[in-house]
Amino acid sequence: MNIETTTARILLVDDQTANLTSLAGILKPLQVEVDTARSGPEALAKLLRAEYALVFLDVQMPEMDGFEVAELMRGSMKTRDIPIIFVTALNTEQKYVFRGYETGAVDYLFKPLEPIIVRSKANVFLQLAEKNRQLAAKNRELDKIVGELTETRDALRVANRQLADMALRDGLTGLANRRRFDQVLSGEWTRAIRDGSELSLAMIDIDYFKLYNDAYGHQQGDVCLRRVARALENALKRSTDLLARYGGEEFVAIMPLTDREGARAIGEALRFQVEDMGLVHRMSLIADVVTVSIGLTTIRPQSLSIASADATYVGQAPARFVATADSALYQAKENGRNRVVILDSRMEEV
Ligand code: GH3
Ligand code: MG
Ligand code: MG
Repeated sequence: MNIETTTARILLVDDQTANLTSLAGILKPLQVEVDTARSGPEALAKLLRAEYALVFLDVQMPEMDGFEVAELMRGSMKTRDIPIIFVTALNTEQKYVFRGYETGAVDYLFKPLEPIIVRSKANVFLQLAEKNRQLAAKNRELDKIVGELTETRDALRVANRQLADMALRDGLTGLANRRRFDQVLSGEWTRAIRDGSELSLAMIDIDYFKLYNDAYGHQQGDVCLRRVARALENALKRSTDLLARYGGEEFVAIMPLTDREGARAIGEALRFQVEDMGLVHRMSLIADVVTVSIGLTTIRPQSLSIASADATYVGQAPARFVATADSALYQAKENGRNRVVILDSRMEEV
């Protein structure tokens, strides 16, 4: 038998020095570290101080016998799992006294001791102790790996959330992007049908922005886009409103639970916030500062009859809503820019 990595420590407990010496001699070939105790209390004190792989416990001792020592060992977390080999002069008919200790990690030897039997029994427990030690080390390793995997998983979750968020955000302005806009519009459309409420939409386009880029450069143009985004955000007060970058120098605002007159007021506020920034635009043909034109429309979305409720048609309804707002924007440009135009569902200015 080889105990490879660590030298196991064994405790021999006997009130007779001669017995301790003889037992130690028998165990010598096992290459274990042998420690001795002359009484129960001394044994318990040693067991609490160091790690032992096995205890040889003399049953007949004055003051505290082997069974009492074993009983006390069972009471402590530190010592309860240390295997015990009772050593006794009792004859085999009295074996019944061991019944209470037959927990697996307990054995017994009868005096006079047979060296071969002593060593083979000791080996069984030492192998067990080594196996347990290796198992505990493996468990610690596994715990560490599980911990690392958990950390990796959490980091991945965070990264995925960030990626998902980025996928719905416009990089330049930090606003919702076109994809997010499509999602929210579709959700609000359904909600408006369910609640029977009105939904308004504003398409917002910077006036003569190409000329702004020409005058100040593309980088300054980007700065302008960011500032317009912030100004537009200022005009939207409700948490249910969504401002998105629709593309280029166009923005779009979804305003749930908003009727035409409410939308008109917000549209005017959006337009005003941009003009009020006073961001100089010397090439603009209609003002000295950056301005926006806004197209608005309001709808009370209707549930389609089951017969016509095929997916393509359902998808087209919000698209037509957006197209109406776009036409209103075109009209605002036609009418002179830096203004708000509202179209109803029949494309008439209202
Ligand atoms: P209008 O008043 O009719 O809206 O004229 P406009 O010049 O604003 O419109 P047009 O569509 O002719 O030009 C839009 C310009 O916006 C052209 C394009 O280079 C610029 N643009 C689009 N996206 C960006 C961007 O991310 N950054 C910058 N700096 N410019 C952009
Ligand atoms: Mg423009
Ligand atoms: Mg444009």
